[in-house]
Amino acid sequence: MFWNQQVETLPRTDMATWQNHKLNKVIERVYEKSLLYSRRMEDRDLQPAKIKGVEDLVKLPFTTRQDLADNYPYGMLTMPVSGVAYIHSNQSSKTTLTSMSYTNNDLVMWTELMSRLLVAGGVNQTSVFQVAMNGKSCPESFGLYNGARQLNATVLPITGEEGIKQAKVLQDFGVTGVFTTPEYMLKLSQEMREKGMEPTELPLQTIFCNIQPGGEMVCEKIQKEYQVQVVEIYGMDDVFGMGIGGECHYLDGLHLQEDCFYPEIIEPLSGEALPVGERGELVLTSLTLEAMPLIRYRTGIQGYLDDGKCPCGRTLIRFKKG
Ligand SMILES: [Zn+2]
Repeated sequence: MFWNQQVETLPRTDMATWQNHKLNKVIERVYEKSLLYSRRMEDRDLQPAKIKGVEDLVKLPFTTRQDLADNYPYGMLTMPVSGVAYIHSNQSSKTTLTSMSYTNNDLVMWTELMSRLLVAGGVNQTSVFQVAMNGKSCPESFGLYNGARQLNATVLPITGEEGIKQAKVLQDFGVTGVFTTPEYMLKLSQEMREKGMEPTELPLQTIFCNIQPGGEMVCEKIQKEYQVQVVEIYGMDDVFGMGIGGECHYLDGLHLQEDCFYPEIIEPLSGEALPVGERGELVLTSLTLEAMPLIRYRTGIQGYLDDGKCPCGRTLIRFKKG
């Protein structure tokens, strides 16, 4: 099942044409409107005309989390604050506060990408969907709920429940899809067993988790505990709270949303761009973000790209961890 079949199965040559077109636009935008990027481009004698397509991205320097922190909160905006519709700020570290701003168009895009990932994981209009984060607030829930709402799924924004109460919520409301952390789901299954409940009796059909290093083993454990598919999706607090990529039901790598984020793999130490198939660090360039476009953002996540055919029919390139 697809949410946007045209884009998700776009021939790769058409995707490349689209990416080059959008890249030209975003480079023009940051050159004209971002102090940080215009200065960095000028330092290298790079004008937008010299970035003709994605193959020229290597001429540009990377953007790092430190850049976001140095320019917190509004230094990387390409518009006045009045044009911003939504701000997410990552306050988890006292030393490196970061924030990400979105226009209304950015939020529409976020919702679109979340809908695609949720559909790929099996959510539909008959689903009951919840974000369950052990009572913690979850910045990703905004995008997740909007994506689920767009599918006409039933959303259940209850985030304050812990332990066995959460199991009761899943049971009572017939929750079929949940976004959560692997640790939380493992703890929950343990607590359920202690109370004489069976995790497999829950109505769950899909458990969505954010990717993490070594996540496959944890996902396998959860899958065994609950006997449902565990789908990994990917996003970052810094950049985009979920929505950058996600697994289809073949669970063989995360399809990256290439129409909105151009992926590169680099050698982490030298920064050299590596060909498809070679292992290194994932670097993303946002192609459509308006408020705070990011050029060659270093994600810190290791893996490789696979442009082989996926049986699900999606042509979106896959990122495989490890
Ligand atoms: Zn697939």
